[in-house]
Amino acid sequence: MEIMHQATLKSEVSISGIGVHSGNPCSISIFPAPEDYGIVYIRKDVDQSRNLIAANYKNVSETTMCTKLSNKFEVSISTVEHLSAAFYSLGITNAIVKADSEEIPIMDGSAFPFVKAISSAGIQMQSKEKKILHITRTIKIGDDKKWAALSPSDSFIINLECDFLAKGLRTDPFSYNASIDNFEQDIAAARSFGFFSDAEYLRKNNLALGASLENAVVFGDHGVPMNKNGLRYFNEPIRHKILDIIGDLSLAQHEIVGRYDGFCPGHHLNNLLLIELFKEN
Ligand SMILES: [Zn+2]
Repeated sequence: MEIMHQATLKSEVSISGIGVHSGNPCSISIFPAPEDYGIVYIRKDVDQSRNLIAANYKNVSETTMCTKLSNKFEVSISTVEHLSAAFYSLGITNAIVKADSEEIPIMDGSAFPFVKAISSAGIQMQSKEKKILHITRTIKIGDDKKWAALSPSDSFIINLECDFLAKGLRTDPFSYNASIDNFEQDIAAARSFGFFSDAEYLRKNNLALGASLENAVVFGDHGVPMNKNGLRYFNEPIRHKILDIIGDLSLAQHEIVGRYDGFCPGHHLNNLLLIELFKEN
């Protein structure tokens, strides 16, 4: 059996952009970290005695529109899911992410800019083995309208079905098998998406102030994308949902060996699934 090792970055790398919630400029620098350190966020704009936030499912404090992590001092970092998915899929288990504000830059709305940045910094294998989580029984969370489940499998597989018909968008089910498919090619570039019909609600509620056609696919009437260059994949939305699931599940801080099945899940259900999973262990 292949032994999987922990890994970090070979060198530091910085990424700048805007925060999708605030609309303000923000940047992060990612640094190598020692074995067993995990992924840890450090808020440079907060006092050192309370500015560390571990990328752990227990620290998920909010799941509306994105995944937000908070420490016990209620210091938070938002929109970690795309960067988390990039770390997980590149096998990075240890890293320090220094952020200059409460948001990770949204970039183009996908994980691709993070994958590129981390790859350019280089990946350093470490000698300790990765922590592996074998799913040994089926756990299901949710109801008929939205649910998510984990069950035993010999590789990490995601089977997903979403229903956006009410918004005029047809979506076929899609599957991702981490041992066969290529995250960088098949998933990483799929962007966040939204519906023009929701734009007014978001504006009224001061949500997603930084959202634009630069960092999201926006669907107008009958599921037609309003972005000038159209879609990156014909089924970009469901691929993006898979990207979010990988990011959310990575907060288990283990390599997952098991199958995820979901129907219209979101960040909240994914978090509840991990809480339930660790409750039983
Ligand atoms: Zn997302």
